[in-house]
Amino acid sequence: MKNKQFIQFFLLILTLSYVKLAHADSASDTNKPFPPFHIIGNLYYVGTAYQADYLFVTPQGDILINSGFASDVPSIKANVEKLGFKWSDIKILLISHAHIDHAGGSALVKQETGAKYMVMDADVSTIESGGKTDFQYGNDPSMLYTPTQVDRVLHDGDEVKLGNVVLVAHLTPGHTKGCTTWTTTESENGKNYHVVIVGSPYVIPEYKLVGNTTYPNIAQDYEHTFQVLKSLPCDIFLGAHGSYFNLDQKYALLDKSKTNPFIDPKGYQDFIASQEQTFRKQLHAQEEKEQSK
Ligand SMILES: [Zn+2]
Repeated sequence: MKNKQFIQFFLLILTLSYVKLAHADSASDTNKPFPPFHIIGNLYYVGTAYQADYLFVTPQGDILINSGFASDVPSIKANVEKLGFKWSDIKILLISHAHIDHAGGSALVKQETGAKYMVMDADVSTIESGGKTDFQYGNDPSMLYTPTQVDRVLHDGDEVKLGNVVLVAHLTPGHTKGCTTWTTTESENGKNYHVVIVGSPYVIPEYKLVGNTTYPNIAQDYEHTFQVLKSLPCDIFLGAHGSYFNLDQKYALLDKSKTNPFIDPKGYQDFIASQEQTFRKQLHAQEEKEQSK
């Protein structure tokens, strides 16, 4: 008996250390740094390989879009400094949406830079509760982050201005209730380009699109999002994750290609179309399941 208990205990320790190790591995994967670089005009990439962060530089101070996981903040800061900019010049902090991988570092960024945090109305309660009011992940401790005070509540169509930069906040809900797609215009060689930073049209497989009690309008909101995204003029295609717009391949082309590889209107339309197809497939499957009940 004693032996059996010992073996059980030993197996438990082994399992626990394996789980911890697996977790540590995935954490280091999601924190993997990425070299910072100039995208176009006064816009720079300062994110990691997994989640995308953007810096707009103006003589009046800088704007950071997304703060990553809290554990990403040192590498975002290092990227800003590698480009020759000052961390303390960040005056405004914005996000793509209120999930831990885009907003988890916001408390730290605010504390270190004193930036004003501006968040879309429908994501404010999630941000200020540290993820606790999220419709899907509110009770999942691994998805919670430091509650962060919002300094300006944004509404659909609001502009955020600093120096010569004007960013427009488009409400593209579904992925979170206040998911935000940012647009602006940048110029290069005397030409103007429409920049779109997609908030996220991604339907997470466990999302309930039918009969969702914590988010009854989720399916209508995704419908609205696809309409908005399809209507936005886009030359420079960017988003909350590098995987949306093939960051790796485009980065590799930066010095080789004659034209800016981030100019990719077709890639944008293709991405939106494939995300919409995924949404329709999941909605259809969930409706069928509901009807067969
Ligand atoms: Zn997300």
